[in-house]
Amino acid sequence: MAKVKVATAWLDSCSGCHMSFLDLDEALIGLADKLEFGESPITDIKKFTPCDVGILEGSISNHHDEEVAKDLRANCKILMVFGDCACFGGINNMRNFFTDEEITSRYYSTESTTPGSATPKSKELPALTKVRPVNQVVKVDCYVPGCPPTPKMILYALTELLEGRLPVLPTEIMRFD
Ligand code: SF4
Repeated sequence: MAKVKVATAWLDSCSGCHMSFLDLDEALIGLADKLEFGESPITDIKKFTPCDVGILEGSISNHHDEEVAKDLRANCKILMVFGDCACFGGINNMRNFFTDEEITSRYYSTESTTPGSATPKSKELPALTKVRPVNQVVKVDCYVPGCPPTPKMILYALTELLEGRLPVLPTEIMRFD
C-alpha cells in the first residue's frame, strides 16, 4: 500500500508542537510504515510538493507565515493544524495589543543590548501582520489543540487520518494525564 505523504511546517511558534510529535517515541516506528515525511522541519526539506496531509504549527504573524500556509494548503489534500497557536493564535495573540513599532523595537532592544547596536531594518525581515489562527488565512480541515497537544492526541489524529477519517478528538483524550 502506498504511504501517506505528509508535509509539516512551523509558523510563528516555539517548535513545541513538533517536539511533542517527536515524543511519540516508539509509536513513530509504527507510523513510519505508513507515513512518508516530505517537507518538514524534521527533514529540513523546505520546498513543498504535492502531498496527502499538511500539518501546520504556529500562528500567522507575518507575510512569510501567510505565504507558507498558502503554499502548503495549495499542495495538500487535507490540512491539519496542531497546537493552540495554529488553532486559535495562542499566546502569540498577546502581540496584538502592541504596535508593530513597539514590537520590533522590543525584539532588538532589551536590557542586555546596547541601545542602537541592533536594528530591525534588514530587508530579509518579513512584514508583520496581526496575529491570526491559520483558519483566518486558509481553509483548515482538522484541529488538534493544546499547548502543546500531547503525543497521544497527535497519534490519535494521525491514526484517524491514516484510516481515511477526519479526526474529531474525544474529550477524554484532550486532558493531560
Ligand atoms: S501551541 Fe504551545 S507548544 Fe505549540 S507552538 Fe504554540 S506555544 Fe509552542
